[in-house]
Amino acid sequence: MPRKLAAGNWKMNGSPEALAMIDALSEAHDGVNVGILICPPAHLLAAARVQAQNGPVKIGAQNCHSAPSGAHTGDISAKMLADVGAEAVIVGHSERREAYGETDADVRAKAEAAQGAGLTAIVCLGESLDQREAGEALPVIRSQLAGSVPPDSSAENLVVAYEPIWAIGTGKIPTMDQIAEVHACLRADLVKSLGAAGNDVPLLYGGSVKAANAAEIFALPDVDGALVGGASLTAEDFSPIITALNQS
Ligand code: PEP
Repeated sequence: MPRKLAAGNWKMNGSPEALAMIDALSEAHDGVNVGILICPPAHLLAAARVQAQNGPVKIGAQNCHSAPSGAHTGDISAKMLADVGAEAVIVGHSERREAYGETDADVRAKAEAAQGAGLTAIVCLGESLDQREAGEALPVIRSQLAGSVPPDSSAENLVVAYEPIWAIGTGKIPTMDQIAEVHACLRADLVKSLGAAGNDVPLLYGGSVKAANAAEIFALPDVDGALVGGASLTAEDFSPIITALNQS
């Protein structure tokens, strides 16, 4: 993925009709200097890929299984996602860590499977409100990073998204100092674990990003873009975020 990236996570939202927004984004941002990624639910991936053809929008998925195939009813493998045109997959979103008990080891196995299938793994991590208030945000995040990122990742097949759980879908965001502190820490740890490649891994912030706060967040050092939930569902909301990133 490009270093600057605006990624939209539709979660369990969207319809075939909603894919028309890809045309609107393609038209508005043709030739733009940042990556644009839309991650719709799995049933829309193939159609999204067709809709995005030859334009600036890339398509990603929201989850994959760590195994290549087998008796895993209801699951989908990384290779299957690649087969329908996904170029990236989100792994370790806090909603999945919480609802399905996904551990750092599970997330790392999924990320490895994704990278093995030629996809970029977008590894999500972030602290809860209790952890933030107890002063444990940095140790929690560092431990998630160490446990969730495959050790042979490169800047081409890894994106890391810092998403404080308490900021997702709530309209609350950390202070700019808090975001900058976490991103500096993630960058330093990535350089320690991956060497020089760690300098080039895109680091996204996620949690209640919208047009009104995007420019301020993108001006922070070591913030290379955003993982956006609610505000990625319409071109009207997502487009100004892409524009803000392009101007950062
Ligand atoms: C997300 O779920 O990844 C997210 C960042 O959601 P929202 O932008 O709606 O807070």
